[in-house]
Amino acid sequence: MKERFQAFFDEFYNFANDLSEKAGLVKKTSNKAGSYRNYLAFIFVLFEKNSNIKISEPNSLETYQLIRAMVDNDTFKSYNKNEHYYPSATLKCYIAFLSDQRMREEMSYDMMINNASEQDLIKEDNENDVLNSEEDNDKIKERRKKILLNGRLIYQRSIKEVILAKEKFEWKCEINPKHETFIAASNNKPYVEAHHVIPMAVQELYESSLDISENISCLCPTCHRKIHLAKSKEKGEMIEYLHSSRKEMYFTKNINVKLDSLFNYYNIF
Ligand SMILES: [Zn+2]
Ligand SMILES: [Zn+2]
Repeated sequence: MKERFQAFFDEFYNFANDLSEKAGLVKKTSNKAGSYRNYLAFIFVLFEKNSNIKISEPNSLETYQLIRAMVDNDTFKSYNKNEHYYPSATLKCYIAFLSDQRMREEMSYDMMINNASEQDLIKEDNENDVLNSEEDNDKIKERRKKILLNGRLIYQRSIKEVILAKEKFEWKCEINPKHETFIAASNNKPYVEAHHVIPMAVQELYESSLDISENISCLCPTCHRKIHLAKSKEKGEMIEYLHSSRKEMYFTKNINVKLDSLFNYYNIF
């Protein structure tokens, strides 16, 4: 298995290694990353044997999801227990690895939608009028189709949802409305940035759309940089806060997200 996906396993190993060093959890000599790599390879083998599905692309959220579905069966449970829960820790590291790669691009997509112009909004409005004229806001929206942007397939984001979120927070920072910003020349409103609390980077894992105003936070520029780039502790506090006020909403929208999984997506350990 490790030979079949050599490049993938090398990258995964490097990621796990960085992670354990950053977290200061282990001594350099303990080779936790090596164990994670071995466990993941074994989990792939186990999955292929149990499901009769051949993994073609390990670097994919779809593959993760298929494998994740296996953890509730008894074979995996006893294997996990016998191996002192290393396999489940390995899967956490696997999803953190996959989302970390996708999160690197998240900020630039955020900025694209934040800087969308009035004309872009009108254009989007016209397109949507044709597509779903009878749209109801309380309804659970299905995830949208992917679009090709700069040579990559990504889930489309709506300017309208961004504006709805900013209006809800009155163009102030959701973390603290007193946070300083400035008046934007483009619309004469306080400059704030939209950020998807459950990142669009992991939309693949959810059937319901994550591109809804309720999942969008309105942040001052500093807080927005912070949620992407700060150290685990600071990021974690922000995410816990943003998640706590949305828990029930997620439930009604059929979006099942535990704080634990959110931490994995944001690479918080
Ligand atoms: Zn963001
Ligand atoms: Zn702020």
